[in-house]
Parts: sequence; structure tokens; C-alpha cells
Amino acid sequence: MDCLFCKIIAGEIPSKKVYEDDRCYGFYDIDPQAPVHFLMVPKAHISGPDAVNEENAAVIGHIYAVIASLARELGLENGYRVVANCGKDGGQTVGHLHFHVLAGRGLAWPPG
Ligand code: 5GP
Ligand code: ZN
Repeated sequence: MDCLFCKIIAGEIPSKKVYEDDRCYGFYDIDPQAPVHFLMVPKAHISGPDAVNEENAAVIGHIYAVIASLARELGLENGYRVVANCGKDGGQTVGHLHFHVLAGRGLAWPPG
């Protein structure tokens, strides 16, 4: 399967790791949109938010728990945003489910 984030998880494409365990991988975004911007991805390939189902959804709860823990470690006490883009209108450009974690500045709402 030709998936950019599967290759990053496998170490075939280098990335700046922020977290790793048996189920998920976290790495800094190559084009940061905030002073802190990393991506959390399940190691198992899920093509996007629209491919989540009752069988593969448990990893998402795990990822949110990891993000909360990382946020404390990284000192994101002013808050952060977790975003999963889906499809063309949602702005998804990589077909492997990923959660953006953005922090370090005030973030506009609603997004553009
Ligand atoms: P999306 O647009 O699908 O929500 O998010 C994809 C994100 O992946 C973008 O923020 C983009 O900057 C990031 N990205 C794309 N290619 C690479 C890469 O090779 N390495 C890293 N670290 N991030 C990437
Ligand atoms: Zn993948």
C-alpha cells in the first residue's frame, strides 16, 4: 500500500517523533501551523475519519488519552486543539487517519 504515513510509521521516511507505543505514533508536522503542531496516527492503517467503525474505533480513545498526557508533559497549559480533517471539503490531504494537535497560540474559531 502506498501510504505516506504508513511509511513514516515504518521509519522508511524520516520524521521527528514526539511519541510512540504499540498502537500509535506521534510526529511533528513538516509544515507547522502553530508553534506546537504534531500529528498522532494509529499504527494500523485507517484511511480517514470516514473509515472509523465499531471494530477499529478503540485506538481513537487511546490516542486522545495519549494527547492529554503529552499536553501535560509539553506544558500546553493554555490549551490546544485536536483536529481530524476528512475528505476534500474537510481539507484532508493524506489518506491515513491523523489527529493534528495545535498549540502555542490562540486559534481562530470557526476555522476558515
Ligand atoms: P491533512 O491536510 O491531511 O489534514 O494533514 C496532513 C498533514 O501532514 C499536513 O499538515 C502536512 O503538513 C503533513 N505532512 C505531509 N507530508 C508530511 C511529511 O512527509 N512529514 C511530516 N512530518 N508531515 C507531513
Ligand atoms: Zn497508512
